[in-house]
Amino acid sequence: MSKVSVVRIVEQSQAITGQFSQVLDDMDWQAMSRSHQMKTEQDVIRALAKDKLGVEDFAALISSAAEPYLLEMVAKSEGITQQRFGNTISLFAPLYLSNACANECTYCGFSMSNAIRRLTLNEQQVDAEVAAIKAKGFDHILLVTGETNKVAMPYFERMLPRIKPHFSQLSMEVQPLEMADYERLQQLGLDAVLVYQETYRRKTYLEHHLRGNKGNFNYRLDALDRIGQAQIHKIGLGVLLGLEDWRTDSIAMAHHLRHLQKRYWRSRFSVAFPRIRPCEGGIEPKSVISDRQLVQLIAAWRLFDADLEMSLSTRESPTFRQHAVKMGFTTMSAESKTQPGGYAEEAQPALEQFQISDERSVSDIAAMIHAQGKEVVWKDWDPALTSRF
Ligand code: SF4
Repeated sequence: MSKVSVVRIVEQSQAITGQFSQVLDDMDWQAMSRSHQMKTEQDVIRALAKDKLGVEDFAALISSAAEPYLLEMVAKSEGITQQRFGNTISLFAPLYLSNACANECTYCGFSMSNAIRRLTLNEQQVDAEVAAIKAKGFDHILLVTGETNKVAMPYFERMLPRIKPHFSQLSMEVQPLEMADYERLQQLGLDAVLVYQETYRRKTYLEHHLRGNKGNFNYRLDALDRIGQAQIHKIGLGVLLGLEDWRTDSIAMAHHLRHLQKRYWRSRFSVAFPRIRPCEGGIEPKSVISDRQLVQLIAAWRLFDADLEMSLSTRESPTFRQHAVKMGFTTMSAESKTQPGGYAEEAQPALEQFQISDERSVSDIAAMIHAQGKEVVWKDWDPALTSRF
């Protein structure tokens, strides 16, 4: 056995013994909640003066005590992002392969009880979507599906070899899989996997995931450890802002990020900030995060981790995206269609997962990014980054 294989097996066995569900079991939600409620102005000033921040510093920066320091936080966040990532924003497009789903999630238009037309793209439909997305100039694609055993590994193994040759970077946001599945998909060209926990509070999670495999909180939570063990290049975390107290959920996610970074130091990490959007049969948010608070949260994440990739979706309004583009983001989606077949065919809103807010064309988005003094890149980790606009 080679030295590399031995090292990998040792790393995997160490990682398996310390999955994040075990770590979270030892954390008290109320204590995490108090940790941001009790922060003072002095805690915020101390956090702002540091180069390396811990989770408690992050808690200070997202607390209400930090609200008067928002301008300072944003300025610092912009400076760090510029220093670490240069003057660039990477664009990607989501490709919805299927809206079939065997789960019932209170906030999602794909929930199984919603009487919408279900569609899983076949080979020809996938080819048509790929061609339509390529024609817009994208070189980074995010594959998205609902969560059902009918759209699982055999389907992914058929589709990835068709899709990968057309794109430099291939990301996936699908149901949590086994570690061996992630390894197999990596062999087929997968670069990044996003599994959003939605909320880190188990009780709230169970209230919103009423039927189906997604109700297995720990299996989803530990998917990120399995992705790390499979040595996937990039791992994406996220909570659905609005399901729970956004500050406490963000603190839990900060703990999760640090847990993963310690174990899977070869991988890169990204976070996203989806806010609950209207959808067929969906709910109202329990904890509303205002635009100003979202800006605070984004700046806090950048100060917490200079190397973290941060993604801004078309869920947000054109105005918000325009103002947020310089703050700390590295990646944006553009001209997204959230229904299978949406790029090549006429829009069919009844198939959508949620309503998007920024419907501008990709060239309008690129022009907006330029107007903010940034360059558009179409793949995010090739050394020869080029701008097409
Ligand atoms: S959030 Fe995901 S698992 Fe839940 S209904 Fe929507 S597509 Fe299905």
